[in-house]
Amino acid sequence: MESSNDAIIVKDLNGIITSWNAGAEKIFGYRESEVIGFSISRLIPSDRLNEEDITVNLSSGKLTDHFETVRLGKGGKPIDVSVTISPVKDGAGKVIGASQVARDITQRKESQEHIQYLAHYDSLTGLPNRTLLADRMKVAIGQAARYSKRLALLFVDLDRFKPVNDTLGHDVGDKLLKAVAKRMQSTVRHTDTISRVGGDEFIIFLSQIEAAEDAARVAEKLIAAISQPYKIKEHELMLTASIGISIYPDNGKEAASLLRNADTSMYSAKEAGKNRYQFYSEDLTSRAVERFSLECDLRDAIGRNEIFVMYQPQIELATRRVIGAEALMRWQHPRRGLVSPASFIPVAEDTGLILSLGERILRESCLQARKWHNCRGFEELRVGVNVSAVQFRQKDFTDVVLRVVEETGLPPHCLELEVTESVVMQGVESVVQKMRILDARGIKMAIDDFGTGYSSLSYLRQFTLNRLKIDQSFIRDLPHNADAEAIVRTIAATGRSLGLRVIAEGIETEAQAKFLQSIECDEGQGYLYAKPMVANDFEAWLTAWKPPAA
Ligand code: C2E
Ligand code: MG
Ligand code: MG
Repeated sequence: MESSNDAIIVKDLNGIITSWNAGAEKIFGYRESEVIGFSISRLIPSDRLNEEDITVNLSSGKLTDHFETVRLGKGGKPIDVSVTISPVKDGAGKVIGASQVARDITQRKESQEHIQYLAHYDSLTGLPNRTLLADRMKVAIGQAARYSKRLALLFVDLDRFKPVNDTLGHDVGDKLLKAVAKRMQSTVRHTDTISRVGGDEFIIFLSQIEAAEDAARVAEKLIAAISQPYKIKEHELMLTASIGISIYPDNGKEAASLLRNADTSMYSAKEAGKNRYQFYSEDLTSRAVERFSLECDLRDAIGRNEIFVMYQPQIELATRRVIGAEALMRWQHPRRGLVSPASFIPVAEDTGLILSLGERILRESCLQARKWHNCRGFEELRVGVNVSAVQFRQKDFTDVVLRVVEETGLPPHCLELEVTESVVMQGVESVVQKMRILDARGIKMAIDDFGTGYSSLSYLRQFTLNRLKIDQSFIRDLPHNADAEAIVRTIAATGRSLGLRVIAEGIETEAQAKFLQSIECDEGQGYLYAKPMVANDFEAWLTAWKPPAA
């Protein structure tokens, strides 16, 4: 009895304690001398006194009784215990009291509560998860229906959060998410529920709104709060968010439809340029239908050869020599006309169609470039082919490229693959490996749209790159815009110091070309020289092109 960790207590038929072991002292805090001769009731919360009424429990013939309950320690502290009570009999077999073994189960209770917590809360941010959100929505919708009230659901998705995770690591990503959650919490009311439902997705449920405008005001406040700079470790980070809003009962009478419609609106906010909010409208559903039909059409288009390549010349600024051509995909749609790659490439990526399509464009461009090598003066013309992240991520990406180069007979150094920053910043090791394989065969690599993503300069050093392409958004504001000038100057200097060539996209005016030349940007492409052209036109243009300076 004395060595047991459990409390072992004996009481008589009046509930007077007659025996008390060391385990009991440890759990309840009373010493033996403080309890012997006193009623057991001091250990029992007043609403549970009947639990230990031996006449009730044991007279029914049960030998032992076992249950989990709460008992009071010294000072009235509640303790979770499991109790086993057995009768004590005298020599003649008459019940003269009861013994009980009580075990402290506080820890087990706590871990149960923790599991309960995990089932309802997000462990990173401590916000309610989807399950708890669904519970609260159900209750609130029930009330709103009874009192004819409005509710709003805000679907919040962070813009370009993934690159932060990919380049700066999950540790920074996690801290950033926590910081975002905190800001959102301090923006909404206590009665509103913010829940984290995916990596960088949150749903905010507003239970007290009068009109849709109230939801808009909250969305504006959220966007403003989220877009303040963050300081995480040594990094200064910027983030924006896109928000989709659905209103009860206007856009849905139950949780599922409200969620779906808020989600659809969020996508439309993204498409409209991110960093904004968008209310749900019937119109959006028809846009979703539209996207689906685009997907179906795209499958047909590939079979019907509606997709072709246009070429835009790349010029050496100092000499105005043509040094290359960028291959740009086009879709001649029977009803829609010429569809921009910006609108169908995301669909091609989502559906995986980009893989076969990308390979076809690559093959066609290589064959075309080889043909142009027969034109005098263009024996070394380089062709730049855009590669989507989905293509680059494939395990057999380098195999595909090497096979196409071999089969088309294009000298490998005349092929340049254009990838964006987000492509090269995902899984740096495998990127380095793929680039090494291509580099070993002489194939060139360029970073497209440079300056719009999150590149880490230390990573850039590890890559076998040839060229940085300055994004046209920076060129557009040249010259005379101090910010754009500073950015372009910096990118050009960065490229040079990494030993890369620098090309500017989207040159439309002589003034832009002059400025770029003055900061030693090597090359450029843009409407100033030529728009993208079909292969035949390109060839005619090529042979007619006289570098004015020469
Ligand atoms: P990008 O690779 O950055 O291509 C440059 C875009 O700028 C092209 O748009 C080009 O037509 C346009 N551009 C060129 N010069 C000027 C100019 O002076 N002013 C203006 N305003 N625009 C100019 P495009 O052809 O619509 O292509 C858009 C994007 O679609 C490309 O951006 C590229 O990311 C993607 N893309 C195009 N073809 C392919 C492809 O075959 N495969 C993949 N994966 N992506 C492609
Ligand atoms: Mg490109
Ligand atoms: Mg570009």
